Amino acid sequence: MKSELFDILRCPYCGGVFDLVESLFHRTDGDDIQDGILGCQCCIFPVVDGIPVLHLQPNATTARDLVQAGKPDLALRAMVGLESEADAEAFEATARSATSTYRDTVDALGPNFEGGYFLYRFSDPTYLVAQAVVRSVAKTALEGTRRAIDICGGSGHLTRSLLDLSPQPPVLADLFFAKMWLARRFTAPGCEPVCCDGNAPMPFARGAFAYAMCADAFMYIWTKRQFVGEMARLVDDPHGAPGAVVIAHTHNERTWSPSHGQPLSPDGYAALFETLPPRIFGESALFADVVAGGPLDLTRREGSDLLDREPALTIVATERGDVFARHALEEPAAEGDYHLNPLYAVEPDGDRVRLRLQFPSDDYADEYGACRQYLPEEVVVHRAAFETLPGPAVPPALEDLVRRRVVLRLPNRYA
Ligand SMILES: [Zn+2]
Repeated sequence: MKSELFDILRCPYCGGVFDLVESLFHRTDGDDIQDGILGCQCCIFPVVDGIPVLHLQPNATTARDLVQAGKPDLALRAMVGLESEADAEAFEATARSATSTYRDTVDALGPNFEGGYFLYRFSDPTYLVAQAVVRSVAKTALEGTRRAIDICGGSGHLTRSLLDLSPQPPVLADLFFAKMWLARRFTAPGCEPVCCDGNAPMPFARGAFAYAMCADAFMYIWTKRQFVGEMARLVDDPHGAPGAVVIAHTHNERTWSPSHGQPLSPDGYAALFETLPPRIFGESALFADVVAGGPLDLTRREGSDLLDREPALTIVATERGDVFARHALEEPAAEGDYHLNPLYAVEPDGDRVRLRLQFPSDDYADEYGACRQYLPEEVVVHRAAFETLPGPAVPPALEDLVRRRVVLRLPNRYA
């Protein structure tokens, strides 16, 4: 972690500022703290492999003891959560290798780690809607200068779309250390991960951010009232322009969905916001905007009869009127090459190549089948154009396939 992060980090329990405890084991590299112990007024917490761990769950206290004992490698094992020696060694081998990929690391973390669909994440419908909302609201609220936070951001797929919106790196907050470790290395390089518990107060100063988001996770948070109060606090800078809060893709208590969680009704969600005015959008209309190629229309107001029937909702809460506008869709500028979407099978056909949409499983088709609205069943492209993939740019013949998500810009060393 960069030592400038001390300006915005606060203890989740006493609210105090942190210092590196110089008398205890630590390793630093210039302004970067690699391993060490942070102290506040009430407690001490470890920094493990550059990631501050600001909660007191058993893996965190084990890691803290191991850092104090001068064993940072074992502290990393404790936080990554590998049970057997063989698994730990497999993870460490991929971690040491400069050529290992996101996929290699996920494989080393075992079959239970990611659910297997990460390969398709960048073209799934939920992701595309969330990315469009995130880009539109964050770009407006950050004004090119202020800082963003992605809470429960997991392995950083949406954090990636914040990287180019501000010179200050976005903070990625999550309880799952291994996911953030992957995010910093592959998906959202340059982000600042902070390991913390979404069911506890957030370990950040009031007004540290101009934009706070939580995507695809809020229905799994138990302490929803506290969580929303904390998001509002994080963007409440008394000296700056008003900030914005986004809760993207949260389920609706009024409808059934797979992986339901503990959702609220649209009115129930609205009632959580005591200090910021919320607007709730059904995901269907936002998805239609994205399929149409934009603009994303955040001026719309949907009635409760319509919202009650929506399986997934997006909430935008802010005093900024300019957020509720029609926003042109734009791609994030994060680094990465163009690849064929792995949902396509390739059949050579003379000087052409036939690409055919193929889902990895029936479950995938059930949950993400709406992608058929932009992913064509079959496309034929010239072999010469196809053979530029993977590459840093696409020829004009493939530009439409980028728009349709048949060709994706993926993080470096992703798959
Ligand atoms: Zn404290």
